[in-house]
Amino acid sequence: MEHKKSRLLRMTLKGGEARVFLCDTTEMAQRARDIHHASNTCSAALGRMLAAASIMGAGLKSEGDRITATINGGGPAGPICAVAGPDGKVKVTIEHPEVELQLKPNGKLDVGGALGKDGQLTIMRSFGYGEPYVGRVNLVSGEIAEDFAMYYLESEQTPSICALGTLVGEEIISAGGILIQAMPGCSEELLDALEIRAELFGSISQLLQDMALEELAYACFRGLDPEVLEEIPLELKCDCSREYIERVLLSMGEDEIRDLIRTQNGCEVTCHFCRSHYAFTGEELEKLVEQGKED
Ligand SMILES: [Zn+2]
Repeated sequence: MEHKKSRLLRMTLKGGEARVFLCDTTEMAQRARDIHHASNTCSAALGRMLAAASIMGAGLKSEGDRITATINGGGPAGPICAVAGPDGKVKVTIEHPEVELQLKPNGKLDVGGALGKDGQLTIMRSFGYGEPYVGRVNLVSGEIAEDFAMYYLESEQTPSICALGTLVGEEIISAGGILIQAMPGCSEELLDALEIRAELFGSISQLLQDMALEELAYACFRGLDPEVLEEIPLELKCDCSREYIERVLLSMGEDEIRDLIRTQNGCEVTCHFCRSHYAFTGEELEKLVEQGKED
């Protein structure tokens, strides 16, 4: 099945009284499902997390900025983590992608059950220099959208409507999300209008299946002067490299590396985000230790 290219629209309503991020992440969600061999429930979690991270990444200011979002809810699927930047490059991982749960009584995939809700959503913003900013909120449900909405409310004092969805069949049918934020000075009239439409976004994945992104944007916000400011292409892309893995190995310290040389004459490291394998022979590790000493 050919999927539509993943992308995000940055929009305003009523000349800037509210801002909107709307994204279709179907193709990214499919690639994430393939890379992680994820169950249906975990595919839904990955799809929602990709949309949430893409939206947050699109709100960053400068090229080197990154957000890392982690949900650690104590559920059987373990923690889920996504990293995104303003350039639309996003990566995602989940500890136990194979975990599958029964559908909920309403027929939906039990993402909250898989992730758990006994824990926190942590958002780390790094700016390419200086200390990163870290914000945390307790999880509401582990269903991801509600947890992000709570983060925006508690951590940024911004009332937000957040909806994320992934429709899973044999493959990913559709995935995406929307975030609407009232800006300071937003009129009561617009807030009321958004409140009424909020329910509509509960079926965001269904809407994305039926309509193109622009079509959806203008249909949902008819009468609210929707204006698209920017379109950002989204891509599931990992930034790992052999050099990066070498730095990680070096950070373990010389004793640990010597241990790897002695006990298994080398090591193999797998990137959690893209599942790429990096193999090092004992000889290569030896060289790495020597180099590390020179640096
Ligand atoms: Zn990687």
